[in-house]
Amino acid sequence: MPRLAYVNGRLVPHADAVVHIEDRGFQFADGVYEVVTVLGGGFVDESGHLARLAYSLGELRIAAPMSDRALKLVMRALVRRNGVRDGLLYIQVTRGVAPRDFKFPKTARSTLVMTTRRARLPSASDDGGVAVVSVPDIRWDRRDIKSVGLLAQILAKQSAAEAGAFEAWMIDRDGFVTEGASSNAWIVTREGVLVTRQADHSVLHGITGNSIEHLAHELGIQVERRAFSLDEALSAREAFLSSATTFCTPVVRIDDRVIGNGYPGQTTRALRGLYFEYARQRQERAFSWPK
Ligand code: PLP
Repeated sequence: MPRLAYVNGRLVPHADAVVHIEDRGFQFADGVYEVVTVLGGGFVDESGHLARLAYSLGELRIAAPMSDRALKLVMRALVRRNGVRDGLLYIQVTRGVAPRDFKFPKTARSTLVMTTRRARLPSASDDGGVAVVSVPDIRWDRRDIKSVGLLAQILAKQSAAEAGAFEAWMIDRDGFVTEGASSNAWIVTREGVLVTRQADHSVLHGITGNSIEHLAHELGIQVERRAFSLDEALSAREAFLSSATTFCTPVVRIDDRVIGNGYPGQTTRALRGLYFEYARQRQERAFSWPK
């Protein structure tokens, strides 16, 4: 059975899945996306991802391609048909196919594409940390929208790869860390306070990060949502990054500086453990079919 993709109402072999050359996603990056973790055949934080998809579409005035209930049915059908137990589901929605013109087309219907990928997800036994490099944040001002326009992140990730690092942390004009190229950035201060950037237009509002923040509260850890500088990060006690694909991954080096003692810190390890547990429970609960 070949791997399938969903394209505008049809499940088609992944190798043959195509959209039109005048799709506005291809012409203008006029579209948005979501990445949802599939764990044990179920979805982690499904409602959060669908809520953010609706938000991104709303901010760009792109019509939702179908109801959330219908989206959930397609998501389940694709994961089941592709036999994915652990991996990722990608949802992409664009403003549709229309003759090339910057203005919104009057008649185009949104394009909806879904794909799945089996992937080895982080596991509770991973005990290492990763290195990140700092790069200037050269993106537009609406980073809260999960746009498919990812050129700045491509360049940032390439810089990280060329430096042998796992991720790039992007730095705004004032020297503050915004977020990773595909993750949110966190530090633990010397006083034990967990800090991540405020959820305004300057960063993507991470669904994983929201869950981690709740878990931190449960552990009695103080959380501050504010900007922190690269200098503050370099002298932090701990650092980590979060995303649907990396969960809560310790950062042990930023540029040439070792963070803390060079090993994943206590707070990070505690949150990471709790997040695994949370993700496992969520997927069990999320796996039931929508009523
Ligand atoms: N920030 C950026 C720029 C991202 O691309 C991502 C995920 O892809 C995140 C943060 C983390 O978001 P989430 O936890 O919802 O995966």
